[in-house]
Amino acid sequence: MTLSPIRIGLVGIGKIARDQHIPVLNANPAFEIVATASRNAKVDGLPGYVSVEEMLAGAHDLDAVSLCTPPQDRFGAACAVLAAGHHLLLEKPPGATLSEMEILITLAKRAGVTLFATWHSRFAPGVAAAKAWLADRAPTRVQIDWREDVRQWHPGQEWIWEPGGLGVFDPGVNALSIATSILPKPFYLRSGTLSYPANRAAPITAALNFVDMDEVPIEATFDWLQTGEQTWNIRVETAEGDLLLSKGGSVLTIDGQTVIDQPEQEYAGIYQRFAQLIGEGGSEVDVSPLRHVADAFLRGERVAVAPFES
Ligand code: NAP
Repeated sequence: MTLSPIRIGLVGIGKIARDQHIPVLNANPAFEIVATASRNAKVDGLPGYVSVEEMLAGAHDLDAVSLCTPPQDRFGAACAVLAAGHHLLLEKPPGATLSEMEILITLAKRAGVTLFATWHSRFAPGVAAAKAWLADRAPTRVQIDWREDVRQWHPGQEWIWEPGGLGVFDPGVNALSIATSILPKPFYLRSGTLSYPANRAAPITAALNFVDMDEVPIEATFDWLQTGEQTWNIRVETAEGDLLLSKGGSVLTIDGQTVIDQPEQEYAGIYQRFAQLIGEGGSEVDVSPLRHVADAFLRGERVAVAPFES
């Protein structure tokens, strides 16, 4: 029996929608993009609306909606989608606050629909194998280095510097999404330093000291001023060898031997999982990466640094 495709609407036609969601959905027969909503952008060949509400009111027999807008602009749209009884996929980070997420979880349950808060880095090729390798080993030290050039990766994205945009935690939360997935024990923030450019409302670097429940140190450096080679590494030392996830999780090395080195296919994995969740009638919402970010804003020391000009 051939199942009819999940009819999906895409909201927020910006960089990630064009780079990943649209090509990945077009390549997945389980989905059919039937409409978009974006204040300024349209996609050739698809009905385009300027707001989620207008898209929902259009007669497209929608089953599901993906929200690819910045996190500050998601909650109202998410509530509208759930109230209309559609399955909902949220780009990372899933919202601007943790409390929003609690409300969305309740609304999704009440509506009997799937809510999927995605963490794309968890679908990087080396992450599942890293998690499996660490499952029966005890880390003794963890070092997270997430260093990239904000001018290269986020040109013109003013929202990222505004409250709720997360600043350097926008990429940093990807590292935390991997760490919370692969490390065998929960961890928490003990101290940290967040540096804010004098002319910006979000941090440009962060140095974070976490420990797990066995006092194992987990140090994270997020840096948005890295030029030249870009670094997205997580190194885990154990008594039985060392693990390195590099290139954002695409490459897994154990004791210097490359175990996995594959091109990323994160969004293909995300939409396979979304289809599976919808089929099973389940939801997947893990706010732990965002909770660590919130903790950093609560617990970290704030220092002012030189203004940042893009
Ligand atoms: P983007 O290029 O700025 O696109 C977001 C789009 O959302 C905009 O083009 C805009 O289209 C719409 N929008 C609605 N409300 C907005 C507002 N208040 N301010 C700005 N734009 C608004 O951002 P993006 O890089 O696609 O990122 C979107 C989300 O995906 C973020 O949560 C980000 O963390 C996540 N993400 C991004 C990447 C990446 O590589 N860029 C990777 C993974 C995840 P209209 O003007 O047409 O409404």
